[in-house]
Amino acid sequence: MTKAIRVHTPGGVDAMIYEDVDVPPPGEHEIQIAQRAIGVNYIDVYFRTGSYPAPTPFVLGNEGAGEVVAVGKKVKEFKEGDRVAYAGPLGAYAELRNMPEAACVKLPKAIGFDTGAAMMLKGLTAQYLLRRTYRVAKGDTILVHAAAGGVGTILCQWGKALGAHVIGTVGSEDKAKLAKKAGAKHVILYRTENFAERVKEITDGKLCDVVYDGVGKATFPASLDCIKPLGMFVSFGSASGPIDNFNLGMLSQKGSLFVTRPTLFTYTAKRKDLVKMADELMEVVRDGTVKIPISARYKLSDAASAHRALEGRATTGSIILEP
Ligand code: NDP
Repeated sequence: MTKAIRVHTPGGVDAMIYEDVDVPPPGEHEIQIAQRAIGVNYIDVYFRTGSYPAPTPFVLGNEGAGEVVAVGKKVKEFKEGDRVAYAGPLGAYAELRNMPEAACVKLPKAIGFDTGAAMMLKGLTAQYLLRRTYRVAKGDTILVHAAAGGVGTILCQWGKALGAHVIGTVGSEDKAKLAKKAGAKHVILYRTENFAERVKEITDGKLCDVVYDGVGKATFPASLDCIKPLGMFVSFGSASGPIDNFNLGMLSQKGSLFVTRPTLFTYTAKRKDLVKMADELMEVVRDGTVKIPISARYKLSDAASAHRALEGRATTGSIILEP
């Protein structure tokens, strides 16, 4: 048995029920983790509300770190006592959980459990967005929406370290300070300013090589007006709601643009890719290139407050749950 946050019927924050859930012994290829910290992500909201459907009842959450307390018979890479972290699959909002060994990586001693839980899903996302979806090169200009958020803060820091000129958008003055600190050279308050016009001014009309957009409906199609001819629009999330159907012809009118709607789980589907991405992420965290700010902590039983804050645009950086 473990305490966990389970969803029986998707909906508002009240859909999160804190209750006892059975945890069987780990399967042949599974490890059992006593969780020390759990990451909260916007994707958890999509699962909770049913916009990403999952068979009910299910334990929410896709990110965590902890200690291995039992291993299945065929587990090769892990043993009891190992420190591990992961991003997905579902089931993270729990004190104890089983995980396929193939989805876990070892967490070096230099990185605490809190940081491990706060950085895996968001940091691996930043890794593939900057290094694979559009490979950022020195001198590129990149636009990062929600630049003070969990993924946004990492994109700003890592993007700057790669030599990019980072422009960020944020929802408040306080968030603007954080985005600047994270490496955004210019910050636009997109709730009051016309961000596409501002990007035009800031870049002297040259526009951006890539736009990383996790906001969705509220920033579309204006995001397309921020991109150079032959540039890339990366729509990786929809915190304000999904983008409605649009005419592909718009991409030719706006300069033969490329568009992709990627998800982390495609990029980490092969074990060797996951390990390589995690190694690269841990390296930039260990050497201080990327800092993982944890702006709030909540008890696991109070996950509803974490969701209220996240959906209310009141959070910055990463937030975690304490089991
Ligand atoms: P954030 O910490 O970035 O929180 C979301 C932010 O979005 C808010 O703080 C807010 O910042 C901004 N926002 C803009 N409009 C709204 C709105 N109407 N309601 C709520 N928030 C709004 O979350 P995460 O770092 O967890 O995730 C960021 C995005 O990345 C999400 O869309 C998420 O789904 C996506 N994602 C995608 C992945 C993938 O592989 N495709 C993997 C991981 C995350 P502000 O106040 O500054 O506007």
